[in-house]
Amino acid sequence: MTAELIDGVAIAGRVRADVAVGVEKLVADTGVTPGLATVLVGENAASQTYVRAKRKACAEVGIQSFGHELPATSTQQEVEALVRDLNADARVHGILVQLPLPDGLDEEAVLAAISIEKDVDGFHPINIGKLGMKGRDPLFVPCTPDGCMRLLEEAGAQFSGANAVVLGRSNIVGLPAAMLLLKRDATLTVCHSRTKDLPTVCRRADILIAAVGWGEMVKADWVKPGAHVIDVGINNKWLEHPADREFTCAASGEIFTAHRQDESEKGGRKRAGYLDEKSGAAYSREHLPEGQSAEGLVKLFRKYKLVGDVDFEAVKEVAGHITPVPGGVGPMTIAQLLSNTLRGARAAAGK
Ligand code: NDP
Repeated sequence: MTAELIDGVAIAGRVRADVAVGVEKLVADTGVTPGLATVLVGENAASQTYVRAKRKACAEVGIQSFGHELPATSTQQEVEALVRDLNADARVHGILVQLPLPDGLDEEAVLAAISIEKDVDGFHPINIGKLGMKGRDPLFVPCTPDGCMRLLEEAGAQFSGANAVVLGRSNIVGLPAAMLLLKRDATLTVCHSRTKDLPTVCRRADILIAAVGWGEMVKADWVKPGAHVIDVGINNKWLEHPADREFTCAASGEIFTAHRQDESEKGGRKRAGYLDEKSGAAYSREHLPEGQSAEGLVKLFRKYKLVGDVDFEAVKEVAGHITPVPGGVGPMTIAQLLSNTLRGARAAAGK
């Protein structure tokens, strides 16, 4: 048996299209244009990419976005002052502080400073608290777990009385996903790094959500035949490249494997270092000596493939429905963020 694929790209596309229609209607009815403020502290490359993608997605559905970039040296007071300004700004209906924050900043205090009416990431302790309480509804639900639930709904999963297993208990994915499943009357098991005999626990699951951050950890014999499997994980699986060779970094002594830039090779490459062809000195990416420009140096790469926390090729032969990586949960996260921003704007406009 081969599982049916849950197409996150298509489902996220429908969510975005619904948001675009909702934005147009809100503007026509009330004159209010939904606005999302993004706060990026420091120069984490992955965070910069995520924030860019979120702002681009806003523009596509008619949501205004306000980008704020602060240096990594910002103080706790400066970051919280910006959040307070945004709380008071009537054009802003959602505030997104991109995590992780640089070392030294208190993430908990920054997130708690966001007004719960603008907490479109759903991470404020009041919103999380309400998510876990019977008979209470948070104003916003965290985007990734909410996206998982939408994928399960679209795939026809029955929640009431189902055995649901969540692998992972982080504040941003595992825990809220577990609380959402409980709200839908599933019988819940939450697994983490101390759980004993994971394969046996997972095999009971009619619904399995994997969010551990270990590439291809969930194997075929961990999965109940016919189960709904949602793979949240995003991991780099390093692959060998035929031209790979070992380099010793002249600055740190670290040995790394890489190959020279090959223009014909598309995607799936990460910068590993640089080679000075004249002197023969190689430098790993992290250890380019101070003052040494990368200009004129040959770029060295490592090859990788994105994989989830589930061994997709094997598990798809057992599961009933499964999300691919990429193209499953990932696209849903941004789509739900747009949806939450519209929700915040509607509430502000009294709609
Ligand atoms: P965290 O590292 O914050 O949490 C991982 C969780 O997995 C923890 O609860 C940890 O247990 C548990 N865990 C770790 N190792 C094991 C193990 N060997 N056995 C059982 N449990 C284990 O990760 P996140 O929740 O932030 O992210 C999880 C994955 O989802 C990552 O791959 C991340 O990249 C991806 N992700 C994807 C998103 C998307 O949009 N698709 C959004 C956010 C994350 P313990 O609590 O005991 O330490």
